[in-house]
Amino acid sequence: MLVMKFGGSILKSSSDFLEISDYLKEKMSEERIVTVISAMKGVTDDLLMLGRLAASGKEKEVLRVLSKIGDKHLSMCKELGLSCDDVKEELKRIERIVLGITYIGEITPRVTDLLSSLGENLSGEILTELLNKKGIRAKFFTGGEAGIITDDSYGEANPLLKATRTYVRRKLIPIIGSVLPIVAGFSGISQEGKITTLGRGGSDLTAVLLGSSLESREVWLWTDVDGLMTADPNIVRDAKVIKQASYQEAIELAHFGAKKMHPRFLEPAIITNTPIRIRNFYKRACQGTLISRRSVIKENIVKAVGLMKGISILTVRGAGMVGRPGTSAKLFSLLGENMMNILMISQSVSESDISLVLSEKKVDKAKALIETKLLGPVFREVLLDRKCAAIAAIGSGMRGTPGVAARIFKAVSSKGINIKMIAQGSSETNISFVVNEEDGEEAVRSIHEEFDLGRGQLEDQC
Ligand code: ASP
Ligand code: MG
Repeated sequence: MLVMKFGGSILKSSSDFLEISDYLKEKMSEERIVTVISAMKGVTDDLLMLGRLAASGKEKEVLRVLSKIGDKHLSMCKELGLSCDDVKEELKRIERIVLGITYIGEITPRVTDLLSSLGENLSGEILTELLNKKGIRAKFFTGGEAGIITDDSYGEANPLLKATRTYVRRKLIPIIGSVLPIVAGFSGISQEGKITTLGRGGSDLTAVLLGSSLESREVWLWTDVDGLMTADPNIVRDAKVIKQASYQEAIELAHFGAKKMHPRFLEPAIITNTPIRIRNFYKRACQGTLISRRSVIKENIVKAVGLMKGISILTVRGAGMVGRPGTSAKLFSLLGENMMNILMISQSVSESDISLVLSEKKVDKAKALIETKLLGPVFREVLLDRKCAAIAAIGSGMRGTPGVAARIFKAVSSKGINIKMIAQGSSETNISFVVNEEDGEEAVRSIHEEFDLGRGQLEDQC
């Protein structure tokens, strides 16, 4: 059995829906399938905007966005020759929710989830009706109806794995094979019976939850990119698709890939060892990237190189920090309480300074916070180094292989690039370092070349 998810990037036009329905029809004759669908491209953004506009009483704007969402889906129905009664019902529901928000002048996280979950219902109902019209017994399910049970952290709800497994199996196993389930991605239901959402990009998580609960052979994430890449092809001309990555590598790569993904979606797959494949729906001859437990081919010691721009290094110094337990805890709690995400951390064994990497946008606030709250006999000074870029060399094959770091840094220094900060976790699947922003791309190219990553990872036809 296979779980297949169709992402918003390949749900733009009626021809996309037609192609997907034809493909499903064909594929169903070979194998049992469960389908997960995202909202059409841009719709979740529009629904979220709708909620904000309604809460701030901008009625004109509200009407504009409402009719944009309505037109987008109804024109799809028309082009596909569908009556779309369910879609029309769903659109009315959106209107009623928005009216309620406008009336009260306030939106809560729970209502935001209720509203933003509906994009998947619209696209899912269209696909279901289209398949029915082609003579396929397809049935639409919301995430909750399919058994995705979550806690009530609205906006980024956590799936309750045991309950989800039980309910998904109970709901879907009796029908798989005779009926094609079309499950709305992104949404779930809390134990109190309220609609929740799994966080942006959450349809991937829906697909993985279904795949691991149903013990599917693989989970395929259909999108419009070829898979995970050895580097950003805009930076490295001969960047290639990675054929196979371990879960750990995929987690590391998630930050950098062209396919926007949240590494969280891999967790249920790791527990049940469910393989995941990222594939380009417009290039179906290509196998994409397989993410699984299987360990990597050793010769690709470094598998991919990522680049992150728009960051700064913040260094806190003070001889008083040496040998004093709790200093880093103080620093990190202060930043954490103020919602500052730390991207990289480095402290030398002398303990007299700690360097952190933060987004350029947050770093001034972080510096001011530390200066007002912490500066004194222990934390003496705070320094900033702006306009930096972080580079990550990723690959499980680095674990236990001596000389990898030497090769990375030699490649970079041979281009005359200065390295400002280094971090490597003890998992050894990622060596990260920081350079001046203007040197970032060159540093990526030098590592890509050193490890010969442009050389044939790819099947011929791709
Ligand atoms: N539609 C949701 C979003 O845009 C979920 C998804 O596409 O995966 O975030
Ligand atoms: Mg999406």
